Amino acid sequence: MKKILWQELRRTEFEKAVKANAVVIIPVGSIEQHGNHLPINTDTNCCFTIAQRAAEAIDEFPVLVLPPVWTGYSPHHMKHPGSITLKYNTFVELLTQIATSVYAHGFKKILFLNGHGGNSAVIAAMRFKLTAEDGVTSVIGYDYWNLYPTPEVMETVSETDGGFIGHSGEMETSLQLYLQPELVDMDCAVWVPGVCGDPTVGSREKGERIVNAAVDALVKTLRDYHSGKLEDGLALWRPQFDAKLKDQFRFPRYNPEH
Ligand SMILES: [Zn+2]
Repeated sequence: MKKILWQELRRTEFEKAVKANAVVIIPVGSIEQHGNHLPINTDTNCCFTIAQRAAEAIDEFPVLVLPPVWTGYSPHHMKHPGSITLKYNTFVELLTQIATSVYAHGFKKILFLNGHGGNSAVIAAMRFKLTAEDGVTSVIGYDYWNLYPTPEVMETVSETDGGFIGHSGEMETSLQLYLQPELVDMDCAVWVPGVCGDPTVGSREKGERIVNAAVDALVKTLRDYHSGKLEDGLALWRPQFDAKLKDQFRFPRYNPEH
């Protein structure tokens, strides 16, 4: 039986995975308040589940998923109960030491899959930090909701939030109604301080469509990363910018018109 969870492998199985040029996913979540209706593990649950499903879907090379980094950078949530945050430098150092440990065992392709907006800037910078300062030859990092074409699917299913991931609003409420409905209390799904977006219009069906889109996008990204195509595309110093690259760099932009 194919194993995808890092913690289930034995020593000899790691050696085989290294020889097969496995890609290793490090899911990075958070433990933070998600309004009155969602569990505090929402972000960790979303990125870990999407990582596992993508790894399961790939048979032509091994993909291993580390146990998720269950807490992240969430100082802005600390005024609400249950939130746990790392300090900025601790968080960066934690990610550094996990990635360099993976690399030390011979794994040459490492992908951070982020599930929390407060982590995004750090995750985006880890590629440069680890390659320039820590001797890791290759690492990439993405927010699951930014993997193309997931943003377009979110925009399509969204009734109120325009597809913006927000916080405990339409998107995340939908995701949790699909992934762990037993932990959601829709009787409490109203806007309260600490919520960004409209939780009342969340639905299981929307959540399923978003998860499927993110899994498909991650599968494609993992294949392109394994084959070398993705990194070829990331080579920015070239005379002509490859227009297709813009799909790989999708960050929310502030638009004063809206
Ligand atoms: Zn969240």
